[in-house]
Amino acid sequence: LGRRINNAFNELQRTPTVDSASVDQLLKSVCSALLESDVNVKLVADLRTKVKAQVSAMLNDKSASNLSEAQRRAKVQKFVFDHLVQLVDPNYAENNAAAEAASSSDSKGGPSAAVPQPPHSSGPSDIFKPKKGKPNVIMFVGLQGSGKTTSCTKLALYYQKRGFKTGLVCADTFRAGAFDQLKQNASKANIPFYGSYTETDPVAISSAGVRSFKANRFEVIIVDTSGRHKQEKELFDEMREIDAAVEPDLTIMVLDASIGQAAEAQSRAFKEAAGYGAIIVTKLDGHAKGGGAISAVAATRTPIMFIGTGEHLTDLEPFRAQPFVSKLLGMGDISGLMDKVEEMQMNGGQERQREMLKKIEEGGTFTIRDWREQLSNIMSMGPLSKIAGMIPGMGAMLGGGGAGGENDEAAGSKMKRMIYITDSMTPEELDSDGSLFTAPIKSAADEGGEDEEGEEEDEKEKGKGDSRKALTTVQEMKKKKKKKAPVKVRMTGRARRVARGSGTSVREVEEFLMQYRMVAGMVKKMGGKAGWLKQMSGGA
Ligand code: GDP
Ligand code: MG
Repeated sequence: LGRRINNAFNELQRTPTVDSASVDQLLKSVCSALLESDVNVKLVADLRTKVKAQVSAMLNDKSASNLSEAQRRAKVQKFVFDHLVQLVDPNYAENNAAAEAASSSDSKGGPSAAVPQPPHSSGPSDIFKPKKGKPNVIMFVGLQGSGKTTSCTKLALYYQKRGFKTGLVCADTFRAGAFDQLKQNASKANIPFYGSYTETDPVAISSAGVRSFKANRFEVIIVDTSGRHKQEKELFDEMREIDAAVEPDLTIMVLDASIGQAAEAQSRAFKEAAGYGAIIVTKLDGHAKGGGAISAVAATRTPIMFIGTGEHLTDLEPFRAQPFVSKLLGMGDISGLMDKVEEMQMNGGQERQREMLKKIEEGGTFTIRDWREQLSNIMSMGPLSKIAGMIPGMGAMLGGGGAGGENDEAAGSKMKRMIYITDSMTPEELDSDGSLFTAPIKSAADEGGEDEEGEEEDEKEKGKGDSRKALTTVQEMKKKKKKKAPVKVRMTGRARRVARGSGTSVREVEEFLMQYRMVAGMVKKMGGKAGWLKQMSGGA
């Protein structure tokens, strides 16, 4: 799916002008790819109509006539992207409309006026926030095998980690071994549990369990229920009875990502019977494309709270609409990046970026200064490890595995240190390709003229104090090893100066230079803008 949509987008990139014909072509490919990914037929048709309308409004809008073709293309892609995000995030439309209204009211015309700010995606605590010191009952519903018991335990662990006294109730008396399974999971995570091998009435068990946990001042009480292989009356009756007995503060429906087109009917039926307020989509680590999740949310206007991304108890991630859609579209994070790039454009960074890309396209050097600019752009863009992951090579470089809240902090402080390092460089160093730091020092006998320049730099460094030692070594080396291969002592002198100035270590400076060289090499190989874009969109 991703590849196909990517191809469609790439085709649009190659079209010289954005007109209704080229957009029709794009929409056709996008829609058939979405259908293949189990997104509901009506939703796809609706998306097509709406994007078409937006595009023709854009083409007819006189105030938008000063948009460049590239900006038009970006807008068309964003129309498509936004519609999908809107489907999967019930709060998105409101926020987006508000942001758009705000952004167009405070600036008159201009290309950036119509570009909406990325809205705030809702997180788990926007959907449900347990109250401290009070019992908060959460009931799980869903078909058998959807991942209820697993997700129950994952969620219990999630709240336990956040300081809530959390317990699990097993009200599944339908499936043999259900209690054992919950018991095993709960014990692994050190979560108190309640259940019975002899009681066969799920209503009796759930109310007794909740009562007992409440009496012991538990704060989050999670009730796991049984499922059936399909939606059926017995299951729904049982759900209603348990619901009446435990009076949950929140009911969560668990949806297996791989159920495809069945998601719509299933989520509707469960909504009617159990009136759930949130969804957990499981097994998104597998081959499931997740299009069914979009249909479920759109059909019930119920937000997704978490996604399950594996069988381990920590494989539970807060749901975020934009990355989800990016992944669904197989776009990597290019769409998120597009938002960020638009933001930067609004902040006037566009000109600088364009200049830099042009320079590189024309065979110029990607200097340390350019790299510094990229780094500070990335820093100003938001969740770091994520954005870093969008840039080829950066994710691995920062030691992070792509998106992840906990990596952000480490990546953030690492990036800050990188910026400090550049802050301590001289203009001459910043405008170099880094070879100043490693330039082989040749003896005067080898290259007379050049050495003069070298001496001048040595003089500069003398004033800085501790490079004196290095300098002495250089001169000694020069004397001793007249015809020897490059000596890198002076590099250490420079690196040491920068390390001192920036409060980092020589090793870090050397690491910085190594990474810079890696990126510069990559930039050179990719040869400017076309290459960058292609690379970033997965190179389809
Ligand atoms: P229940 O019948 O609804 O309680 O479903 P279970 O919790 O017993 O899960 C059914 C199967 O799906 C088990 O083998 C789980 O390990 C597996 N499972 C649940 N959630 C996930 C997930 O997010 N990813 C993967 N790969 N497997 C999952
Ligand atoms: Mg179960």
